[in-house]
Amino acid sequence: MHIPERQNRIASLLLRLAAAPPQVLLLEGGDAAERRALGLFWAARLNCAAGQPPCGACRSCVQVREGVHPDLVFLDGGQDKIKIDEVRELRSLLGQAPRGDGVRVVVFHEAQELTPQAANALLKSLEEPSRSTVFVLLAPQREWLLPTLVSRSWTLTLAWPGEPGADPALAEWLDALMEFWRSGRGWFRRTGVKGAVDKHLAMALVLALQREVVHTLRGRPEGPVAQGLARLSPGRLKRLDLALAHAQDALSLPTPVNPALVLDWLATHVHGALRAPA
Ligand SMILES: [Zn+2]
Repeated sequence: MHIPERQNRIASLLLRLAAAPPQVLLLEGGDAAERRALGLFWAARLNCAAGQPPCGACRSCVQVREGVHPDLVFLDGGQDKIKIDEVRELRSLLGQAPRGDGVRVVVFHEAQELTPQAANALLKSLEEPSRSTVFVLLAPQREWLLPTLVSRSWTLTLAWPGEPGADPALAEWLDALMEFWRSGRGWFRRTGVKGAVDKHLAMALVLALQREVVHTLRGRPEGPVAQGLARLSPGRLKRLDLALAHAQDALSLPTPVNPALVLDWLATHVHGALRAPA
């Protein structure tokens, strides 16, 4: 599991946390691949024969990396919804001791894809804590999960991708989008330029906006974008958040999409939503 350098702070926090692993760890922020890597890093740390930090070479580490460790359960919401049957199946497993010498780790990747029934079944399992099993929830942001799940979790926030301050080109696109939402002008002549928008830029823009929405929802709007968003009603912010999730999904599809079209959809959809009744 390669941990990108900008997530080193979280990796070292995890190493410290391993002395007394919380029952539920929630990793939000970053991107899906980074959350997955850190979730597996955590599983490796709790099972590695060498310990601190995980060696990456012992049998346990290799099995975690290859996804075949007997005490690693990886439920992937990135493929399909995580359904109640899958969570129920866990319950018989939770009654058993781990097969190895470490801790059983149950990872919910893209945990926002837990169906409500499955999320409730998981909550039930958490009521009978077991020292030999820990859970990991991986999600873009905690607001997408059941609040009762979040309140039981130890939450760590990964560095968000696409810090606009660090990338002047991205900041310019972000300003253009905010200006379009304000005035309805200027957007399409940017995206209409052939080759102006690639998938990387579109995703960076969507993720940067998501981060601003999160700051705003948490009452910590910093910078002009979040301050603009802070003027929106909670209902409108929620709609913007959903539109961003759709755009992110479209850009994550394995089939090619036109990234400029995704951004145009986002721009016009949100422009319309901002004018609809709150
Ligand atoms: Zn190891």
